[in-house]
Amino acid sequence: MIDFELTPEEQASIERAHKQAEEELRPIARYYDEHEHESPDELINKMWQRRGEGGLIGLGIASALRIEETCWGDAGLMLTNPGPGLGGAAILASGTREQQERFLRRFNEGKPKWGAMAMTEPGCGSDTAAIQTTAVRDGDEWVLNGEKIFVTGGKRALEESDGLVVVWATVDKSAGRAGIKPFVVEAGTPGVRVEKVEKKLGIRASDTATIILDNCRIPYENILGSPEVRRVDPSQTAGFKKAMATFDATRPIIAAMALGVGRAALDFAKEALEKEGVKIRYGLPRQKQTAIERDIMDMEANYKAAKMLMLRAVWMMSQFKPNSLEASMAKAKAGLAVTKITQKAVELMGPLGYSRKYLLEKWMRDAKINDIFEGTGQINMLVVARRILGYSREQLK
Ligand SMILES: Cc1cc2nc3c(=O)[nH]c(=O)nc-3n(C[C@H](O)[C@H](O)[C@H](O)COP(=O)(O)OP(=O)(O)OC[C@H]3O[C@@H](n4cnc5c(N)ncnc54)[C@H](O)[C@@H]3O)c2cc1C
Repeated sequence: MIDFELTPEEQASIERAHKQAEEELRPIARYYDEHEHESPDELINKMWQRRGEGGLIGLGIASALRIEETCWGDAGLMLTNPGPGLGGAAILASGTREQQERFLRRFNEGKPKWGAMAMTEPGCGSDTAAIQTTAVRDGDEWVLNGEKIFVTGGKRALEESDGLVVVWATVDKSAGRAGIKPFVVEAGTPGVRVEKVEKKLGIRASDTATIILDNCRIPYENILGSPEVRRVDPSQTAGFKKAMATFDATRPIIAAMALGVGRAALDFAKEALEKEGVKIRYGLPRQKQTAIERDIMDMEANYKAAKMLMLRAVWMMSQFKPNSLEASMAKAKAGLAVTKITQKAVELMGPLGYSRKYLLEKWMRDAKINDIFEGTGQINMLVVARRILGYSREQLK
């Protein structure tokens, strides 16, 4: 039976995350929005120290709710949180026990470190099967060549810590999806470099890097999963399935991030309205509600619907149940909901919403990314449609 119950300890950890978001993230959110590419070192060190005490890493509902609270504080700063990140999710989804131990150990010791995942390329985003980066075996090494763009945390992973990036590359272009495999590239490996860091609309505290692999040699055993290319069923190949399994774990987390931003905007709008004497009267028939009441209730309904979908997807993941459909539903709904909620909040607040005196305009900018990365809204809706209708990737494009 589905169960969202939290233990008292979990509840306390969520409250702590909220307090930290309010006291540590909110006060510096504007600064790091306006000083893109500066590093919030003090916050990073605090987050690193706290990593073992119910931090932001984990698969359960409490962890997702802590992420929501942290993003209520600031989503860009939340993405500076040191840890295995998306790279870790890929290693957990695709790596052997030995690889998980070898690559993830570093995130429990020493100085702050980051993990990242590099799939997107100049000619490939939604269509991940179009990956052009190559991995060629040369004795007991793989030689990687290609360009990866929009890698979240890529600079911190490769240049600012002893972190790692999971790079998706093809071992055989003629094999299509079957040839695409994940490889771990560790910081300090010759042949990998950060070419540039993006300037962005929102989540500016998060670094988003272009990474060049130029005859980058990594040990043979840094391939995650099997090097074998199996062409039995082009739509359901082992290596590629692992990529999708990574998304099953990360999409509900993006939904939780989105919800944090949406709730920040909702809370702000409701508080501002209350200060002006506008109280939302719940329970009135629709024809008796004011337009503002309808708008706020609509925003809340969207927020809550997305939250229920997020909780279900996370719960299924924590129970090791297949959750591709639910993960994509949660991500598609939350990405769209938070985009609409923040835009509506800016609209309702008028100049208050547009002014940089308040964070509301920033939340509107921060919101949109949730509808883009880890599969755009359209791509997640495609996944949902395929799963419900029973169509394959080839039948419904
Ligand atoms: C800030 C940021 C951080 C990111 N972090 C990472 C990261 O850490 N690692 C990584 O690998 N990537 C990352 N990305 C890349 C992101 O995942 C891609 O941008 C995203 O998958 C979309 O791919 P694309 O940019 O090639 O757009 P396209 O695939 O070209 O899509 C353009 C538009 O066409 C639509 N579209 C495409 N195909 C279809 C279809 N079949 N049906 C209907 N509509 C369609 C899309 O929904 C979108 O609206 C990041 C991007 C940003 C902006």
